[in-house]
Amino acid sequence: MALIVQKFGGSSVADRDRIFNVARIVADTYRAGNDVVVVVSAQGDTTDDLIGKAGEITHDPSQREMDMLLASGEQISIALLAMALGELGVKAISLTGWQAGFKTDRNYSKARIRRLQSERIENELAKNQVVVVAGFQGLNSHEDITTLGRGGSDTSAVAIAVALKADLCQIYTDVEGVYTADPRVVPGAKKLDLITFDEMLELASLGAQVLNNRSVELAKKFGVNLEVISSLNPVPGTIVKEVVDVEGMLIKGVAKDVNVAVFSILGVPDVPGMSFKVFSLLAQKKINVDIILQSVGRDGSKDLTFTVPLDDKSTTMKVLEENIARFGGNGIKVNDSVAKVSVVGAGMQSYSGVASTMFEALYEHNINIHMISTSEIKISVIIDKADADKAVNAIHDAFIN
Ligand code: ADP
Ligand code: ASP
Ligand code: MG
Repeated sequence: MALIVQKFGGSSVADRDRIFNVARIVADTYRAGNDVVVVVSAQGDTTDDLIGKAGEITHDPSQREMDMLLASGEQISIALLAMALGELGVKAISLTGWQAGFKTDRNYSKARIRRLQSERIENELAKNQVVVVAGFQGLNSHEDITTLGRGGSDTSAVAIAVALKADLCQIYTDVEGVYTADPRVVPGAKKLDLITFDEMLELASLGAQVLNNRSVELAKKFGVNLEVISSLNPVPGTIVKEVVDVEGMLIKGVAKDVNVAVFSILGVPDVPGMSFKVFSLLAQKKINVDIILQSVGRDGSKDLTFTVPLDDKSTTMKVLEENIARFGGNGIKVNDSVAKVSVVGAGMQSYSGVASTMFEALYEHNINIHMISTSEIKISVIIDKADADKAVNAIHDAFIN
């Protein structure tokens, strides 16, 4: 007998038939003699719809009330799934994130899990029943509901797997596993049988939303057995693990992220401490700066260009506008019609020519590169958003096909 955590995303529980489909997968796992904890997301587009509803009321909602609102989506799913399991003759109980013991920090809308007090889940499991937990939510030290950021249910599932020392954590979704690119963008994308935590972490952080990057981080840290698998087709999925036989593919995947804005501060003085001033202010606002480019100083001044998540565009603009006099710059430029396209693969550490193959593919399709950044196992470029899908396909063709 094993302890298995199974997480089902929004499309997997979108309607009545999908909920019964999930209930059957869970029932089979339970009847095979396993302890099962299930984590579910809100149904279909519920979270987006709730964001839309808030937008009908105000353009500047309180973050606390926003989390209160968004957490309701998952509460619907857990109750419906527990009912469906009951209909199939499987005893089940639903728990919200706070009933399940998720304690988070205070950051509404992108809270981090501080700890999981898992006694309640364990007590309910001991009663020989399936425990269905709402993903994406917890409680902060003010006893207020928080949410974990978009895609956060994956992290809830992995956190439960860690706390309960589960034998396996399965992330069920609407594709058959992790592919070499988003199969909805690249029809020829190939399913990977295996991928390393490091490669998956890069892909997830660079826009492949099939797994949330924090969930991968957590799974890597605690060595969770992680599998991405389809809730619709019963075929083997993708195993994510520490080390994969190094033989094989140079590039594991191509990812696209359109949640990017490029800022430039023009004409700042070419003196020490400038970058510190700018980026420490952004860090205080918890804005995650990604690629940074500094022009060569000329006539005593230079330009600072960097990317931030598009979600943080208005906060970034506010910080820069309020402080432009302190920086001594003579203008701020922002471009949000951009995308970041990246190739990821541990194999590139010991192989030269990956960058030139990537740049050649872009050149052949007449795609202009605005910024470049590299690490040991990835290369990212910032290009026009309109070129993003063309670029993903061109790069995928160059490496994978
Ligand atoms: P869920 O609702 O199950 O959490 P998500 O929409 O968050 O599902 O993630 C699944 C989606 O991720 C897929 O439908 C697919 O379009 C997208 N995706 C992006 N990149 C990849 C990739 N490399 N491999 C598989 N799916 C990917
Ligand atoms: N429902 C949340 C979202 O749409 C959390 C999740 O699906 O993981 O982002
Ligand atoms: Mg998801």
